Amino acid sequence: MEIACLDLEGVLIPEIWISFSELTGIDELRATTRDIPDYNILMRQRLSLLDQHGLRLSDIQETIATLSPLPGAGEFLDWLRERFQVIILSDTFYEFSEPLMRQLKWPTLFCHHLVTDEKGKIINYKLRQPDPKRESVKALHALQYRVIAAGDSYNDTTMLSEAEVGILFHAPQRVIDEFPQFKSVNNFEALKKAFIDASIRQLSF
Ligand SMILES: [Mg+2]
Repeated sequence: MEIACLDLEGVLIPEIWISFSELTGIDELRATTRDIPDYNILMRQRLSLLDQHGLRLSDIQETIATLSPLPGAGEFLDWLRERFQVIILSDTFYEFSEPLMRQLKWPTLFCHHLVTDEKGKIINYKLRQPDPKRESVKALHALQYRVIAAGDSYNDTTMLSEAEVGILFHAPQRVIDEFPQFKSVNNFEALKKAFIDASIRQLSF
């Protein structure tokens, strides 16, 4: 059996924190795992900035509700789900992702939770487990699945390494250079072909 694992932000939807940064004008919120590979350092910085600017979860949710999936992402995901069981492995939070998951027709999503206080201020975050993308692929292996995975950034590389086939999609050049073992593609047609090539089944476009 085969299963497809996809990263979410930068693959199917825009980077939520970058979009939020643009709408609020808080430049420091633009940083992502592309800029700060250590996710815990990155999240501490984000929560500190939200606190400094007095922004609550509802402010971020209102912004996210104005976003759409990346062009072609919905069609690509429909295509992929006709050919593979698909799980989205993301470092986003369930509290953020709902408006976009609705637009993508509710694919299975494994991600994290935010912790808020009684006033709706984000006071902490709860990661599902350490190195969640890699651990998810390991768990799927324990269930006897062969895994083909695609993602765009540093936080995907352990998932891509653990999978039988790892594919970089829309990755920045420095990630491509640092991880030459992964095939790198830049549009959904090429990503479809990469999944077909990676499959051990006879699949057609
Ligand atoms: Mg990403």
